[in-house]
Amino acid sequence: MIDPFGRTVDYLRVSVTDRCDFRCVYCMAEDMTFLPKRDLLTLEELDRMCSGFIAKGVKKLRLTGGEPLVRKNIMQLVRSLSRHLESGALEELTLTTNGSQLAKYAEELFECGVRRVNVSIDTLDHAKFQKITRWGQLGKVMEGLEAARKAGLAVKINAVALKGVNEFEIESMMTWAHGEGFDLTLIETMPLGEIDEDRTDQYLPLSLVRSRLAEKYTLNELTYKTGGPARYVEVAETGGRLGFITPLTHNFCESCNRVRVTCTGTLFMCLGQEDAADLREPMRASESNDLLYEAIDEAIGRKPKGHDFVIERKGEGPAVGRHMSMTGG
Ligand code: SAM
Ligand code: SF4
Repeated sequence: MIDPFGRTVDYLRVSVTDRCDFRCVYCMAEDMTFLPKRDLLTLEELDRMCSGFIAKGVKKLRLTGGEPLVRKNIMQLVRSLSRHLESGALEELTLTTNGSQLAKYAEELFECGVRRVNVSIDTLDHAKFQKITRWGQLGKVMEGLEAARKAGLAVKINAVALKGVNEFEIESMMTWAHGEGFDLTLIETMPLGEIDEDRTDQYLPLSLVRSRLAEKYTLNELTYKTGGPARYVEVAETGGRLGFITPLTHNFCESCNRVRVTCTGTLFMCLGQEDAADLREPMRASESNDLLYEAIDEAIGRKPKGHDFVIERKGEGPAVGRHMSMTGG
């Protein structure tokens, strides 16, 4: 699949549920209304849709959410998708998780060919963790990390940089992650969906975080890429990798290789734009995949050049109305 700007699209992120067992302050309002279950694609439909994308050239597939591991019988989907790893059509099957259920599933994920997971942790302080996630427990996530290690899964930690919250903890998180053998990727808050707080109060530019770290550490630019938008440095003093996802301070759209599908089968060609294509109807309209492929081609044909995020000014609404938990991280 090649878009109008000559970019090859070979990376699909699928949000398998909009539900979550956490309520992170930058992601969701505490009182969220979730989609009625009947609107969701079934696991069989998710499999069919992912397989369709793989047939069209997707090499890397990431399951996300909401929290992917709270979707009922999710391992049924993972196991079934693993056939594409075995055939060689798919190069990587991975997921982004909050880690709350990882202790339960790590081993099975490895068995299904998953080799890497992204686990989101914004702080190592138990009380702060509970405050950020509202409903989460850091201890459970730590058990999940241990299980991942035992199972042989490589872990990348994702942390959203939050002004005044984990701002001065980033260095200790980095030394912890690198000491554990995990990469750490920092993310800027993006203006997605209504939340209970004001994002201008949360936004911490990573350019600032990076220059602070550079006063103390040697950050060597790497060409290393994971297929996502992070730019990496190697930290000479720790020997570990540190990634920066900077949608606001540095626009990374020129190398965008991915699209996203929600759990209702809506294809978003860009995380930061409203334009979308429905894949559920074309899938349900016929048993053959012709209509599905037609809808995918038509949508890729209008993948936009990029997003135009700016952090909302105080009091203004978010740039994009839907939450990150709907489109998936
Ligand atoms: N529940 C899983 C998790 O937390 O890893 C997967 C879905 S979550 C939406 C994916 C990633 O998006 C997480 O790392 C989360 O911290 C990040 N995220 C959520 N809302 C965000 C926002 N408004 N701006 C930037 N990152 C956000
Ligand atoms: Fe749930 Fe992930 Fe959003 Fe936190 S960031 S509320 S864990 S979907």
